[in-house]
Amino acid sequence: MSPVEAKWPVFKAKLVSRAEIAEATMAFRFERPPEWTFKAGQFVDITLINPPETDAEGNVRGFSIASAPHEGVIMVATRMRNTACKRLLQTMPLQTEVQIEGPFGDLTLHNNGRRPAILLAGGIGVTPFHSMVLRAAHEKLPHRILLFHSNNSPEDAPFLEELRELEKQNPNYAYIPTMTAIDRSHRQWSGETGIINSKMLSRRLKAATPSDPNIAGAIYYIAGPPGMVADMQKTLVDWGADEDNIRTEEFTGY
Ligand SMILES: Cc1cc2nc3c(=O)[nH]c(=O)nc-3n(C[C@H](O)[C@H](O)[C@H](O)COP(=O)(O)OP(=O)(O)OC[C@H]3O[C@@H](n4cnc5c(N)ncnc54)[C@H](O)[C@@H]3O)c2cc1C
Repeated sequence: MSPVEAKWPVFKAKLVSRAEIAEATMAFRFERPPEWTFKAGQFVDITLINPPETDAEGNVRGFSIASAPHEGVIMVATRMRNTACKRLLQTMPLQTEVQIEGPFGDLTLHNNGRRPAILLAGGIGVTPFHSMVLRAAHEKLPHRILLFHSNNSPEDAPFLEELRELEKQNPNYAYIPTMTAIDRSHRQWSGETGIINSKMLSRRLKAATPSDPNIAGAIYYIAGPPGMVADMQKTLVDWGADEDNIRTEEFTGY
């Protein structure tokens, strides 16, 4: 029997850099083969090659691609927990090779630029949206984009400053971070606090689009830990969003 070939790209890529992007949260940049492409919002499976240790979950993890398609690297970002896989990602020497498979997934921005995009992220769930808003700014997409991003505190909000800065590059985009445990923070915070609920959605959407407070035709995207995705989906439906227009990505493992 001949070996079965994977129906998607599989390649080796070297780790080129890593950086802390929030408390206990790191970004990893890998080499990107020049011919390899993906759509903003998709994810890859990353496999550690011959790791010195492993655990029950094995050596493969799925990660949304946080970098944009026009960038020369593949960046992923994750909450650092004490699992073998993440310990190794954090300590392996730069230039170590991993295996990357993909891209996978269809949490990608809709084509019709007249329909607004409402993006709802819980913590690290912002990674696919980071890619999408970088792409939108780079390609000067016409979509109205509102990114709601919930974290405990500014300290643990991945890409907080960068996502805010992007508002200057793209007048169609607004970033709405909210902190659910601001009393535990040491930083000044004058933005939203508390969970993303119907009241916050109504108030912020009305402010963003006064002529169309129900934001007709919007497509809603939710990404994050499964519990957060389920809560947000319920909130959106209670608020009045059409369930057919809600797209989700669950970060299983959280
Ligand atoms: C489509 C998709 C995209 C994803 N994108 C991302 C992404 O961009 N970034 C990202 O970080 N993750 C992403 N994930 C999740 C990712 O694949 C991992 O499952 C996740 O990062 C957890 O990996 P881990 O090694 O910390 O825990 P695992 O070893 O995978 O943990 C397995 C289980 O152990 C438990 N566990 C382990 N450690 C702890 C701990 N310290 N505290 C509490 N419970 C614990 C958890 O209950 C978990 O269910 C994505 C998943 C999918 C399916």
